[in-house]
Amino acid sequence: MAFCEEVFIEGLTEQGMERVMSIKVAINGYGTIGKRVADAVDAQDDMEIIGVTKTRPSFGCDLAVRKGYPLYCTYDDESKIAAFAAGGYQCEGGLSDLLEIADVVVDCSPGKVGASNKEKYLAADVKYIFQGGEKHAMTGMSYTSSANHLENKNVQGTRVVSCNTTGLSRTLVPLYEHCGSLSVECTMIRRAADPGDSAKGPINAIKPVLKVPSHHGPDVMTVKPEIAINSMAVAVPTTLMHCHSIVATLPDGHGLTTQSVLELWKSNPRIIIMNGAETNITTTAEVMEYARDIGRKWGDLHEIFVWEDGVKLDGNTLYYFQAIHQESDVIPENVDAIRALMGTEDDWRVSVAKTDAAIAIYNGI
Ligand code: NAD
Repeated sequence: MAFCEEVFIEGLTEQGMERVMSIKVAINGYGTIGKRVADAVDAQDDMEIIGVTKTRPSFGCDLAVRKGYPLYCTYDDESKIAAFAAGGYQCEGGLSDLLEIADVVVDCSPGKVGASNKEKYLAADVKYIFQGGEKHAMTGMSYTSSANHLENKNVQGTRVVSCNTTGLSRTLVPLYEHCGSLSVECTMIRRAADPGDSAKGPINAIKPVLKVPSHHGPDVMTVKPEIAINSMAVAVPTTLMHCHSIVATLPDGHGLTTQSVLELWKSNPRIIIMNGAETNITTTAEVMEYARDIGRKWGDLHEIFVWEDGVKLDGNTLYYFQAIHQESDVIPENVDAIRALMGTEDDWRVSVAKTDAAIAIYNGI
């Protein structure tokens, strides 16, 4: 494993010179998630992208070149590496060459190919972060920023849970921390495909996920085992967002009202609360239009969107809807997870604030 380089900030006196760790981050799999994680990492001042991989020369390579990220081949075979030059791209080498100079690799390969990649990371003695397409059992650790940042400190590898599970964790963890116990039933109304996918469906059906319960709810327990949660899921013909319909049972004596639940969420990061009737943002289409209007890169929305007028606490039962931008809510969590693994920030709120401030700058906010 390479070691973080100490970078000296220009303009500081020798005595006051601050040593800043620049964590060397590799991205293995530069697709929907990988390209976004790369830019979010690149925006931070305590980490840098030292290379991204593509399986073969394709249009995604142009983006990496434009961003100035060194391009590597996902594989070590000479013929596959040579294909990049034949396709007009400068390729710096294979995955092993990249791992040699990395402190941490963020694996953004398609779900379920992780196990064989993990062997390569262990062999290279490099820290690794997988995504939600992989099972918890493969890494033995999972991560969301608000649930278990500190438990991930200095571990060799973890998994940032899926977009749905990240979204559930954002609103349920603060509730659990207030109440001390929580039992949840929820339904994930899932987008069928990402906007860039041309091969997935359904396009004319509602498809129940017949594995009951679905993995999304129980997956929350990989980061916060104290929350008792089950979920069901249906895929619907949309590409924009997921929508969650959530029913949470709070313990007696919770002391909350509908209004104070909203205040609790507002005091936590990466949750946006808006009134549908007042803003006319009543569907996921308008939520995404809002993200584009405020100038978010790729039209992303890292925050979880909760409709204020769709929240109701009735006795011990809390009902609410939330919308999840599947391509982007996990992106800032990956940045925080890097700090956890590298042991450079203990306080999740400090990491979140740092991550989000840097991302806000690249969004021009
Ligand atoms: P993607 O298909 O858009 O990108 C995957 C990239 O990995 C592609 O560039 C592909 O060429 C490359 N690749 C293929 N085989 C590889 C290998 N063996 N090693 C390294 N790279 C390889 O996929 P994605 O949507 O970015 O998903 C990546 C991961 O993130 C998955 O685990 C997925 O479940 C998870 N995730 C996806 C979303 C989403 O909405 N897209 C949301 C949250 C989490």
